[in-house]
Amino acid sequence: MDFFSKENIVNLLQDNPKLVDIVKLLKSDGDDKRNLFLAASEIKSQFVGNKVYFRGLIEYSNICRKNCYYCGIRKNNINVARYTMTDEEVVNCAKYAYDEKYSSLVLQSGELNNEKFRQKISELLQKINFATNNEMGITLSLGEQTEETLKEWQKYGGRRYLLRIETSNQELYIKLHPNDKIHDFETRLETLETLRKLNYQVGSGVMVGLPFQTLENLAEDILFFRDFDIDMIGMGPYIEHSDTPLYHFKNLLLPINERFILTLKMIAVLRIMMKDVNIVASTAMQAIDKIGREKAVKVGANILMPNLTPQKYRENYLLYQNKPCIDEEADQCKNCLEARIHLVGGEIAYGQWGDSKHYLKKQ
Ligand code: SAM
Ligand code: SF4
Repeated sequence: MDFFSKENIVNLLQDNPKLVDIVKLLKSDGDDKRNLFLAASEIKSQFVGNKVYFRGLIEYSNICRKNCYYCGIRKNNINVARYTMTDEEVVNCAKYAYDEKYSSLVLQSGELNNEKFRQKISELLQKINFATNNEMGITLSLGEQTEETLKEWQKYGGRRYLLRIETSNQELYIKLHPNDKIHDFETRLETLETLRKLNYQVGSGVMVGLPFQTLENLAEDILFFRDFDIDMIGMGPYIEHSDTPLYHFKNLLLPINERFILTLKMIAVLRIMMKDVNIVASTAMQAIDKIGREKAVKVGANILMPNLTPQKYRENYLLYQNKPCIDEEADQCKNCLEARIHLVGGEIAYGQWGDSKHYLKKQ
């Protein structure tokens, strides 16, 4: 029997897959790897179709109270010029997305948890909704927040929330963050639980190819997404930044191309296991391979996040080095993406929210 035929792969990942089998698929090569990608591509066509939904990304501010060891905009990186977009700039980005029929936005930022930040986001949500006729599907990606804050933002129109768990393995999480109260694994988990309780559409994800991370850790991450019943998943390769503490461990990393392929395998396995979730083709894929996001779409992703951040801010939102498109404006991003998605058989779904089918089924 050919263990890694397409049918075998689908059967293996059905119902209650074993960790060892997921690990084997993450190690797959040659025909086995090809079959994994083909199986995922077929499942995607069957369950979510070939439509790709846009979420216009607004990188609102790079001011952050945290010091995650991997992130280029961590608080202690003094080489970053800190910025916060004006309300007018945010609203202009939202209007651009509205006019271009993107239908959805992601408001992302460094993490702040003070009263001023809470009020500012509430205000921005109201301004965005006013300027776009309440027609945008708004995703927030603003780090860990209290239930009260999350409720308030929901009231003003936040419908989806992206909070990557980064790794579902607590020991690894501790290695990637300072050991203090504001970098607490349990708090991150609890925030995901609160988001679920409030009935946000919940997005999470991990970085792939981190130092100290094993294939078993990654297989556990996939099982975590399933057990947590996550609606949208954004996974991207970890890419080092020389101004971060984790950079010292760069000799432990897989070569960058292997991190890229491993991320594709993670997406493919996840698509086969969680057939109707939304999966993001992350910008970090494009940092490694010019058509990296398109390759991700081919093996299971169905969401793209074109960057809408004004160009003058982009070089100061470098989570990792070699981030693509930092010298472009939104228009250029859109045009190049459209052509490339067609190349891999995808079709951009303008004017549609593209909510996670997985989420809608539960409502
Ligand atoms: N501050 C919020 C948070 O951490 O949830 C949202 C913004 S944060 C910049 C968004 C994501 O960037 C993080 O969840 C992390 O996975 C990713 N990221 C940070 N540094 C990275 C790196 N060096 N390589 C790849 N992704 C990175
Ligand atoms: Fe701040 Fe998010 Fe970067 Fe951590 S990953 S330092 S919370 S912006």
